[in-house]
Amino acid sequence: MSGSVLRLAKRLDVVSVSPTLVVMMEAKALRAKGVDVVDFGAGEPDFNTPENIKQAGRQAITDDLSHYTDTAGIVELRRAIVERYRRLYDVSWDETEVITGVGGKNVLFLLAMSLFDPGDRVALFAPYWVSFPEQVRMCGAGTVILPCEETPGGPVPRARSLEPHAGTLKAVILNSPCNPSGAVIPPDEVARFAGFAARTGAILISDETYDAFHYGPGAHASFAAHRARLGDQLMLVNSLSKTYAMTGWRVGYALGPRLVIEAMKKVQSHDATHTAAVAQAAALEAIRGPQGSVAAMRDEYLRRRDALVPALNRIRGISCPLPGGAFYVFPDVTGAMAKLGCATSIEFARRLMTEIAVATVPGEAFGVPGRLRLSYALAPERMREGVARMGRLLGEGAA
Ligand code: PMP
Repeated sequence: MSGSVLRLAKRLDVVSVSPTLVVMMEAKALRAKGVDVVDFGAGEPDFNTPENIKQAGRQAITDDLSHYTDTAGIVELRRAIVERYRRLYDVSWDETEVITGVGGKNVLFLLAMSLFDPGDRVALFAPYWVSFPEQVRMCGAGTVILPCEETPGGPVPRARSLEPHAGTLKAVILNSPCNPSGAVIPPDEVARFAGFAARTGAILISDETYDAFHYGPGAHASFAAHRARLGDQLMLVNSLSKTYAMTGWRVGYALGPRLVIEAMKKVQSHDATHTAAVAQAAALEAIRGPQGSVAAMRDEYLRRRDALVPALNRIRGISCPLPGGAFYVFPDVTGAMAKLGCATSIEFARRLMTEIAVATVPGEAFGVPGRLRLSYALAPERMREGVARMGRLLGEGAA
């Protein structure tokens, strides 16, 4: 038979399938064979959506919210988002400066499509969330990947790393608290990034998906605080997925200058059109309704972090910082890799999966080999079981 005539678009040559999804599929396949997998791989809350939010979704179905809405989302939801930022960060946007979409990922993609041309350079810090570089590259733009500085709270981006690229960057994408490291950018560094962008003309895209899960010291340092200084150069992105345990509902949003929001609406009008009307009604209740469930989830994540980090540090060859946010830790496992004779953290993660049925995501997925991402969005007894298996494999005690 002659070769297929199928030719995929060249833009996909620079894109790979999300590595975090690959791990999820492997864990699922093992589980299907009856293996008791401890899954530190999942990037989503193990909590279900709070009852008041589910009720709003049910009510929306009863009320026949089954028609198209505004491309940017219903105005009540956009006003509730504006109100959230006023309440939490004392900063105001207009409802015309907000767009909602099918999760934060969709919103970030609309943003990339609206801003990035071939030839543009976009700065990212490693470790980065897996979709940032792929979305930039799908638009034909180039990435400038910069290292973070190691701190006791994990790898933190520093604004001074951008200096050699001053004047050449279309945008800088930041994510605090960070997926995969859980690290947070401290307020003085946030101010330095804002200063860099204001001075050099780069657009600052801040993904604050995990802003509700910040464990201090102090409050989450949002780029919202620098809105006045950044003006048209600030884009904030957020999502209801993690904050309200709503991953499957698919609601995310962005706040930014009307010119960009209008461009994103134009793209969305030829893509998803908008996120589901029922999901928007649930999102409205999530943001406007009681916030007690968010505080309860935050407190539980904090307890788990404080149990997991010391337990990992007791394992030989693992060194784990204490991150200030999200629900991930990102330990250095180079000592443990050497002990098992693994050349890469991909190989190490695979050994953990096949030998002790512990699922993790190797650091290569996030641009930093030698590390693993472990999510602590899983039941504490499962976490203890997973760490015990790792301890048996590697031995306890200092590296
Ligand atoms: N940004 C970051 C940093 C994330 O970790 C995620 C989810 N893993 C998203 C955006 C997108 O989430 P969603 O599309 O579910 O809103």
